[in-house]
Amino acid sequence: MYPEPTLQHDISLRDFNTFGIAARARHYLRITAEGQLAAVLADPALAALPRLVLGGGSNLLLTGDFPGLVLHMANSGREIAGETGHHVLVRAQAGENWHGFVEWTLGQGLGGLENLALIPGTVGAAPIQNIGAYGLETKDVFHSLTAFDPATGTLRTLDGAACRFAYRDSIFKHEAGRGLIIVDVTFALPRAWRPNLRYAELANALAQGGSAEPTARQVADAVIAIRRRKLPDPAVIGNAGSFFKNPVVSAAQCSALLERFPDLVHHRQEDGTEKLAAGWLIDQCGWKGRTLGAAGVYPKQALVLVNHGGATGADVRRLAQAIQADVQARYGVLLEPEPVFV
Ligand SMILES: Cc1cc2nc3c(=O)[nH]c(=O)nc-3n(C[C@H](O)[C@H](O)[C@H](O)COP(=O)(O)OP(=O)(O)OC[C@H]3O[C@@H](n4cnc5c(N)ncnc54)[C@H](O)[C@@H]3O)c2cc1C
Repeated sequence: MYPEPTLQHDISLRDFNTFGIAARARHYLRITAEGQLAAVLADPALAALPRLVLGGGSNLLLTGDFPGLVLHMANSGREIAGETGHHVLVRAQAGENWHGFVEWTLGQGLGGLENLALIPGTVGAAPIQNIGAYGLETKDVFHSLTAFDPATGTLRTLDGAACRFAYRDSIFKHEAGRGLIIVDVTFALPRAWRPNLRYAELANALAQGGSAEPTARQVADAVIAIRRRKLPDPAVIGNAGSFFKNPVVSAAQCSALLERFPDLVHHRQEDGTEKLAAGWLIDQCGWKGRTLGAAGVYPKQALVLVNHGGATGADVRRLAQAIQADVQARYGVLLEPEPVFV
């Protein structure tokens, strides 16, 4: 039915994480079919090992060698899965490259995912932190997903409510969902597509290009161009994108901060709280472009920490902690890392 995966030992993970951290995995399995998971985890010796489910490694900080079993999700396939009244359902297997999937939907004439173009990683990881960019989050276009539950050895279907999506968060980052292994994800793309130009920088870029009524392809191209200009390419310089979440504070805390720092960058949320720009806070503390050992802050975007070559996970963590301490001391705000520390 499906090939039995080969268990490998003492594998370098350097090429499997976009930070380029040279950590090693004690045991490693490349999963190319969902059915392999049940077979692998039916083995009591393998099931007992600490487990890391790995996608594209673009939201991870490997702080040392991994002493357990890495399950590297590489199952592939994408399809038009059906229709509802107003939507076309598209499904991809967890191991599919995210950007490749976005391009595929555009090639099918389906808009809806274009604001999330060029985000690194796999489809299976997209719901984990409810990936978002340029005014769109996974939850806005999500239909359902299938997850393998190692506790029961069965597959479960979760809809959007069950995933408990929030800003860079979902049930999969919490106790109730942490062990689940996502095997495929289904998105509901609107039949009556309209461009999502909520994000001013994107709207301006399209307007300047003369696209008053842009197509989904044009929106994707504009997003790709902005991202290429602003973010470092992990193939050239190791990084995991934004290293910190934008902190959300109460309206009262924001007002108090504004009295002391009138230039404070803040965005009011629907619930009345205020989202601060983590990159601005870091920049104000003088960290942009600075290095600590082989780890550093990207000179063009203070929110991105980079590996200048040979950095360990501990180096990056030390840098992150120094930044957190400075921002906390100056603004009284704790920056929370976005990548998962392993
Ligand atoms: C240059 C750059 C730009 C980025 N821009 C953005 C952005 O704009 N918006 C944004 O939200 N993120 C962004 N990211 C972060 C990252 O790309 C996303 O979080 C992405 O979804 C991670 O996918 P991955 O496959 O690489 O996950 P990994 O890093 O492999 O894993 C991340 C977490 O998900 C878990 N996981 C992975 N696959 C599965 C699965 N199938 N089942 C269960 N758990 C799983 C892992 O165990 C880990 O806890 C950026 C990263 C980089 C390097």
